[in-house]
Formats: sequence, C-alpha cells, structure tokens
Amino acid sequence: MAISESDPVILVLLGPPGAGKGTQARLLSERFGLPHVSTGEILRRIAATDTPLGREVREIQKAGLLVDDATMARLLRERADDSDCRGGYILDGFPRTIGQAELLETLHGADRRPPLAVAIVVPAAVLLRRLTGRRTCPVCGTIYNVYTNPPHVPDVCDLEGATLSRRSDDTEDAASVRISEYEHETAPLLEFYESRGRLVTVDGDREPAEIFADLEPRLRRLL
Ligand code: AMP
Repeated sequence: MAISESDPVILVLLGPPGAGKGTQARLLSERFGLPHVSTGEILRRIAATDTPLGREVREIQKAGLLVDDATMARLLRERADDSDCRGGYILDGFPRTIGQAELLETLHGADRRPPLAVAIVVPAAVLLRRLTGRRTCPVCGTIYNVYTNPPHVPDVCDLEGATLSRRSDDTEDAASVRISEYEHETAPLLEFYESRGRLVTVDGDREPAEIFADLEPRLRRLL
C-alpha cells in the first residue's frame, strides 16, 4: 500500500445526500488507516453551540442549503492541519462546489499527490426514502432506516437501548432542497475529477459491503 506520511493521499467521496458516502468513508478509513473527515459532522457540532456562527449554520443546515465557501475553506484548513491528517484523510461532504474543489487542489502545495475522487451513483427515487427513513443512535452511531433496516423496537437502538435521533435536515422538505443543491452545485465535480483522470464511479444501489468490495481495488489502481 502506497500511503504514508511522506506521500499522503486525500480521498474525496462524492454523491448525492443519502448515497452512502458516510458508510463508505468509514470503511475506507478503517482499511487505509486514514481519518474520516465529515464536514457535515463538523458543522453539526458548530450548529449545537450557542454562538452567532452556530445559529447561522443551524438555519442553513435545517433548510438543506450550503454553507459559504469561505467558511468551509477555513474549517477544512483547521481540520486538515490536525496531526492525524498528516498521512492524508478521507473527505465526506467536501468539496461540494467547484470553488471548494479548486481550493482542495492547492491546499497542500503543488508537490503533493492530488486528491482522488469516488462518485457513488444512486437513483433519485431511492435517495428520498433513505434520507427520510434514516435514524441514528446518538451513542454508537449505528444507522437504521425505518423502511429498510428498522430497529427491533421502534426508535430504540438494538445495541445501546438509546432513543434514536433524526437529523433536522432529513425531513422531506430539507432533503429535497439538499438533492437539488447537489444537482446544481456538486454534480459538476464529477466532470472536474473525471477530466483529470482521478474519478472512480460505483453503483451505490447495493449493500455497503458489496459497494466497498467493488470500490476498493479500483481505487488502489489509481493510487
Ligand atoms: P452532510 O452531513 O454531508 O449531508 O451535510 C449536512 C449539511 O451540512 C449540508 O446539507 C450543508 O448544509 C452542510 N455542509 C456540509 N458540508 C458542506 C460543504 N462542503 N459546503 C457547504 N455546506 C456543507
């Protein structure tokens, strides 16, 4: 495996909300020993604070809109500077605009290996069901779906017994806005990475393990 601190690798997970980026990012993180950096998660932590930025992010997330590129650039720089990112990292939810993708190209200097991207493709009809049905255990992070993978007792984690939570932006209204933001702002990034010969595309309408088994060897060939 070619990944080391002297030759760090940045992997980017692309795909609409509900495509399973978080799940594949976790699997890649374990396999490659690189940290999983979710900008949605970083923002949710900020949104939970009673600060001007916290209030602003809370409203933007709840509506399903995007946080501005300048704020995202600052947050990514801060996280990428952490020592655990020295050997590289796996980005889930960033970049989401061409501006963010351009920033990432130059973030670590021209002599570094450029980022590689994975696009997870899922039919639009499947996405809404995945998002509106999603419930998460606040203790262990296990993700359920009330339609396709419900817990034994409704709204209770099978493993922890904790009450499951629902993201404020997994309502039907916010999910529709998020999908449309993806189509307008983020989908052009597929061409951005494809034209640079740095994109692996996988069918995301399968079980996570099957997607991962397809993805991992193809990604390694690009490393
Ligand atoms: P996620 O958890 O990746 O689905 O992100 C949840 C929400 O956080 C998004 O709908 C946006 O409001 C915000 N967000 C996360 N990452 C970004 C980003 N790279 N740029 C702008 N907004 C973001």
